[in-house]
Amino acid sequence: MSADRKDWSGNTRLVHPVSVKVPEGNTPLIRPIYQSVKFTPAENGPAGEQFFYSRISNPTVRQLELTLAEQMKKEDCIVFSSGVAAITGMLLSILKSGDHVISFRELYRPTRIFIKETLTKFNIDHSLLTLKNIRSLESAIIPGRTKLIHFESPTNPNLEAADIEYIISVAKKHNVLVSMDGTFAGIHQHNQFPVDLMVHSLTKSANGHGDVTAGGIAGGSALLKKIRETTIYLGAALDPHSAYMIERGLKTYSLRVQKQAQTAFRVAEYLNNHKKIKAVRYPGLCGPMNHDLLKKQMTDMGSIVTFEISPEVAKSADKFCYHLKLISLAASVGSVESIICPTNTFFGSDLNSQDKEEMGINNFSLRLSVGLEEADDLIADLEQAIRQSQ
Ligand SMILES: *Cc1c(COP(=O)(O)O)cnc(C)c1O
Repeated sequence: MSADRKDWSGNTRLVHPVSVKVPEGNTPLIRPIYQSVKFTPAENGPAGEQFFYSRISNPTVRQLELTLAEQMKKEDCIVFSSGVAAITGMLLSILKSGDHVISFRELYRPTRIFIKETLTKFNIDHSLLTLKNIRSLESAIIPGRTKLIHFESPTNPNLEAADIEYIISVAKKHNVLVSMDGTFAGIHQHNQFPVDLMVHSLTKSANGHGDVTAGGIAGGSALLKKIRETTIYLGAALDPHSAYMIERGLKTYSLRVQKQAQTAFRVAEYLNNHKKIKAVRYPGLCGPMNHDLLKKQMTDMGSIVTFEISPEVAKSADKFCYHLKLISLAASVGSVESIICPTNTFFGSDLNSQDKEEMGINNFSLRLSVGLEEADDLIADLEQAIRQSQ
């Protein structure tokens, strides 16, 4: 019996291909993708530091975690196979039976449903307040039971602002953890606020090209270590190729978000001046909506604009989407191509009519995510769609 490659049969050699060693110091400009589930530990390698199995850790995935932690000015980061996996993993890690979580009805719909339905099954109670009445926060805290306040800013879909400093001050006073979903503003914003955990859907502007789902949580090392101990067993690991795609997307992140914010501002102004469009919400707009808090907390105003069409334009927001020729009807935001969705159909299913009315979600409301097309082309598409009328 032989144990040498030269003695192996052709088939065995195919299963174990030739390995090319890159000479030391001969550095590839793009890091390799470690597209491997398994790693053989070095016989006398450092305990606890070696890679072993990619659901637990992988060099390409770890590289992305460290890049994101640096950007978000936190000690560490964990990435997941979706934004929802990051949020639900975080909630399940921090909360246990008998605990209470405070959040707000102005939340990304899947997060709201998970809190209302799944956490309840595990005997974890919640209060869903409204960001419009943030002063009710302190009285919602149940001493000894409230463990976490989770919020978004600006919110999906209607760009409500959370008073972040106030939320943190109440939480600190009562020794409650704070997590923020900062997806709508992007990973470059809100990092000056000392929230315990910052969550992002990396599916959106971080990756930016609409071809990967991923999520991340950044925070202090000790807290993240605790979260990792639970989430490893939830199994929503990001695969190395997706981690690589996000890292590639991040190289053009600041160029993309800057240009998208400039275009979104022009589109928002156009919509705001249009007679057949009302309730335009964009954090950078002056006018009827009060965006002072968003302007104070954000350095740029993002790529998402929401608005309502008047009933003479189309029978519903859903129908209006089919008037558009350049802008596609689709879920998600923060991609290179502009996308639009009716907010009632996409986000309203679990809300009662009073909540919807107060939140500005109805049969005529839309959420537009501005991509990298030229502003004039987007405005021309909206104009022809509005002119079509029903
Ligand atoms: C999209 C989104 C998520 C969920 O992210 P996925 O990657 O789609 O799972 C969470 N929060 C907000 C605010 C989002 O927009």
